Amino acid sequence: DFAARVEQTDAELEAFTQAFAQEIERGGGSYVIPVVFHIVHNNGPENISDAQIHDAMRILNQDFNRENADWDNVRPEFLDIVADIGIEFRLAAKDPSGNCTNGITRTVSSLTNEGASQMKSLISWPRNKYVQVWVAASADGAAGYTFRPGSAQWMPEEDGIVMQHLYTGSIGTSTVNRSRALTHEVGHWLNLAHTWGNSNDPGVSENCSDDDGVSDTPNTIGWTSCTLGGSSCGSALDNVENYMEYSYCSKMFT
Ligand code: ZN
Ligand code: CA
Repeated sequence: DFAARVEQTDAELEAFTQAFAQEIERGGGSYVIPVVFHIVHNNGPENISDAQIHDAMRILNQDFNRENADWDNVRPEFLDIVADIGIEFRLAAKDPSGNCTNGITRTVSSLTNEGASQMKSLISWPRNKYVQVWVAASADGAAGYTFRPGSAQWMPEEDGIVMQHLYTGSIGTSTVNRSRALTHEVGHWLNLAHTWGNSNDPGVSENCSDDDGVSDTPNTIGWTSCTLGGSSCGSALDNVENYMEYSYCSKMFT
């Protein structure tokens, strides 16, 4: 019950996340999460097609259910721990008023060029019923961004993911190479940190003393390229192909 989980401490959220992970491990995870895409555009290429959104949803569902074609290409050291998370994402069929929807809204505004709080305030659906994905010309300077639950609870109208249209799906204005960014952001939305820990700064040695809270991912400095042989914090091979990396060769969760 997402509604009951507001105003939790980070420790409570972490405990919930660990319990959720154990439930998945037992094969009990079968969550369906409704998704709404809010396309905020100024009649430019950021007004992406329904087909591009459906493609993004296809990739998101494949990645969270180990149905992505490339999952078994991971380094052999990680083959046994590629996770089937067992969450299905579905475009919303009802809007907050109970009316039929295709799960896609379109709003015209020049705020698409900022992709920040003010843009999100144009249209926001309740966080206890949907994960929201705003698609815009800019994601406040990033490919995409979101708040993890411990922060999102203090700004409920802003809970969700902002994606630059160039990183949404693999067709239209996006590419296959950029298509896993939404998987990464949904990982954050569900309380995952980066593999290198609680920062947005990969590649620094201090990250070796910061764990990501996930027991089977080795500590790492974090990567911005696909360095398959990296073992940046000692003997263990880095899980550079994890979706919570910046490596652009991501193909697995653990
Ligand atoms: Zn991230
Ligand atoms: Ca770890």
